[in-house]
Amino acid sequence: MSETLENLYSETRQFPPPAALAAEANVKAEAYERATADRLGFWEQQAERLTWAKRWEQTLDWSNPPFAKWFVGGELNIAYNCVDRHVEAGLGDKVAIHWEGEPGDTRSITYADLLKSVSQAANTLTELGVTAGDRVAIYLPMIPEAAVAMLACARIGALHSVVFGGFSVDALATRIQDADAKVVITADGGYRRGKPSALKPTVDEAVAQCPSIEHVLVVRRTGEDVTWGEKDLWWHETVEQASEKHEPKAFDSEHPLFILYTSGTTGKPKGILHTTGGYLTQVSYTYNAVFDLKPETDVFWCTADIGWVTGHSYIVYGPLSNGATQIMYEGTPDTPHKGRFWEIVDKYKVTILYTAPTLIRTMMKWGDDIPAKYDLSSLRLLGSVGEPINPEAWMWYRANVGHDSCPIVDTWWQTETGGIMISPLPGVTSTKPGSAMTPLPGISADVVDDQAESVPDGGGGFLVLREPWPSMLRTIWGDDQRFIDTYWSRFGKGAGTGDEWIYFAGDGAKKDEDGALWLLGRVDDVMLVSGHNISTTEVESALVSHPSVAEAAVVGATDPTTGQAIVAFTIPRGNVDTAGDAGEKLIQDLRNHVAKKLGPIAKPRQIMLVAELPKTRSGKIMRRLLRDVAENRSLGDVTTLQDSTVMDLISSGMQGSKSED
Ligand code: ATP
Ligand code: MG
Repeated sequence: MSETLENLYSETRQFPPPAALAAEANVKAEAYERATADRLGFWEQQAERLTWAKRWEQTLDWSNPPFAKWFVGGELNIAYNCVDRHVEAGLGDKVAIHWEGEPGDTRSITYADLLKSVSQAANTLTELGVTAGDRVAIYLPMIPEAAVAMLACARIGALHSVVFGGFSVDALATRIQDADAKVVITADGGYRRGKPSALKPTVDEAVAQCPSIEHVLVVRRTGEDVTWGEKDLWWHETVEQASEKHEPKAFDSEHPLFILYTSGTTGKPKGILHTTGGYLTQVSYTYNAVFDLKPETDVFWCTADIGWVTGHSYIVYGPLSNGATQIMYEGTPDTPHKGRFWEIVDKYKVTILYTAPTLIRTMMKWGDDIPAKYDLSSLRLLGSVGEPINPEAWMWYRANVGHDSCPIVDTWWQTETGGIMISPLPGVTSTKPGSAMTPLPGISADVVDDQAESVPDGGGGFLVLREPWPSMLRTIWGDDQRFIDTYWSRFGKGAGTGDEWIYFAGDGAKKDEDGALWLLGRVDDVMLVSGHNISTTEVESALVSHPSVAEAAVVGATDPTTGQAIVAFTIPRGNVDTAGDAGEKLIQDLRNHVAKKLGPIAKPRQIMLVAELPKTRSGKIMRRLLRDVAENRSLGDVTTLQDSTVMDLISSGMQGSKSED
C-alpha cells in the first residue's frame, strides 16, 4: 500500500451539543487543556475516582516498552469498587441491573443483592480451589450471573476468560486450553429466538478435550434436561448456599484481571490481557465522561453481549464502578417482534442507549414505522461502537431513535485498548454524522503516512497511538512476541525506525478539513484502484446514503485494467422492489450515485443485491469472505461467522450486473 488513503467523502452537517446538556455536562472543554498540559497528572486525577487500598508510587512505568505498568505499587479490589463501596455509601437499595429475559421474565437486582451474590460466588470459587492468578472460563447467556461470575473472579484475583455463548465446541475448547482454565461457569442454556438454546452439551464436549478443567459450575436457566458428570455442580446448590460474607483483598495495580479473545474479524483471535488499576481507571472515567452519566436519574442500556469487550467495559466495569442503573437483555432484537428493543426502552424509560451500527442498519432495513410505535422520549444520549457508522445510519439513528435531539457519541476503541479512545464528549463536541471526532482527553491518537509522519488535515492514512494509555492491553496471553509483532512493529522503534514506540491499531482513518477523525475500516480491506487507496467505508457510506439501501459491504477484487476493482454487496431497504428490470435499474442508479458522491474513481465495477451479509458473532461485516466470493475463490476460515448459510446464499444468488464502462 502506498503512502496515504484517499479522502473522498465530505460532510457538512454538524450538530452542536444541546445547551442544557452542555451546561450540566460531567466533563467540559477544559479537560482537554488539563490533559494536554499534564497527561500523567490528568490520569492520576481519574485514578482518584476509584477507592484504593494503597496509593500508587509511580503513575506510569514505561521503562520496558511496549510493556507498560500503570499506577505502580498501588493496590485495589475491583469488585469492591464496583459493588461494596456503593452499598457502604448507602446505595444498597438502588437497582444495579434491570434484567429482561427473552421470554419476558424479569429480575431487578440491587447493589445489595449484587454484593450478596458476588460474595457467595467468591466463596464458592475459593472452596473449589480457585486462587489469585488462576483462570476461570465463563460461557453464559446474558443473565445476571454472567456479571456476578466476572465480579467474583475479580474479587479473588482470578482471571476470567469470557467466551461468547454462541461459540462452538472448538472455539470454547481452544480458548480454555490457551488460558489453561481450571473452572468453567456455564448454564443449562439460555433463550434465543423464542426457544431454549442449550449450552451445557457444548461445554460437556469441550471439557472432554480440556484436562485442566476441574469443575463445571452450572446455572439453571431454562430447566431443560442436562447430562450430569462428576465435575458438574449446580450454581443454586453451591453459590446460592454459600456464606454471604466475603472480605475483599486488595490486589496489585498490575495484577491481571481478564483475558479476552478479539472477535476474529480478520483471522485467528488473540488472547488480550488486561490488568487491574489502569483498566478500571480508564473504563470508569470514560464511562462517566462519554455517557455523561447522572447516577440518580439515568437508566443506561448497552446492547452488547458480555462476551465482547464492550460488555466487559460498558456493562460490567464502567457502569458498576460508577454506581449506574442499567438494563441487561437476554435475547435477540426481533423476538417476539421487531419492536422488542424499543419496547424495552419505553418500558424502563432508558435514557442512554449504546449499540452497534449493524443493529442500526438492521433497524433501518426493517423500517421507520417500528420505532415510531413506541415512546422513546426518555432517551437523551445515544452511542455507537464496533464499526464505522455510515453518515446516513447516524442520521437515521438521530431522527428515528433520538427524536432529532439526542447527541450521538461514535466511540472508537478495541479489545486491545480496553476502553474508549476516540469519541465526542456529549457536552462539548459539535458532532458530524459518521465521525468519531477527537481523541478523549489524555489520549494521543494520530493519523500517519507510511513513514509515521502525521498527515495534514484533509489527509488519510494509518491510525496510531503515540503514548501509552491506562487501559491498554499488557500483552497477548502467553505470547509476548506476537504482542510486539502485531501491534508495535509497523511504525517507530519496534519497526527499527525512530525513538518512539508507536501502537498501530490496524485501522485506516482520515482527518477532515477541521481535523476531525473519521475511521475508514481496516487497512487490510483498503482497495487499490488505479493507484488510489480507497477505503471500503467511504464507498459503503455512499451506497447507504442512497434511499433504497440499508446496508452495504465493499471489497476490492483483482482487475486486469485497474489492479483492483470495487465490488459491492448491497442490502436494499425493506420496501424496495428489486425484481427483474427494477433490480437492474437500481444497480445502475447505485453505481452512478457512488460516482457522483465520491468521484468516478470510486464507481463500483459490480454491484450485487443480497439479502444478508456475512458477519462475525459480534455483528461486524467480514469482508475477507466477500473478497473470496468476488474473486471466485474457495472460502477462508468461517468459524467466527454468525451464520454460515449466508455465504451459500450469496455465492449462489449472485444476481448482479457487471458493467462495462
Ligand atoms: P480481530 O482483531 O480479531 O480481527 P476485531 O478487530 O473485530 O477482531 P474488536 O476488538 O471487537 O475485534 O473490534 C475492534 C475494531 O472494531 C476496531 O479496530 C475497528 O476496526 C472497529 N471499530 C470499533 N469501534 C469503531 C468505531 N466507532 N468506528 C469505526 N470502527 C470501529
Ligand atoms: Mg482487531
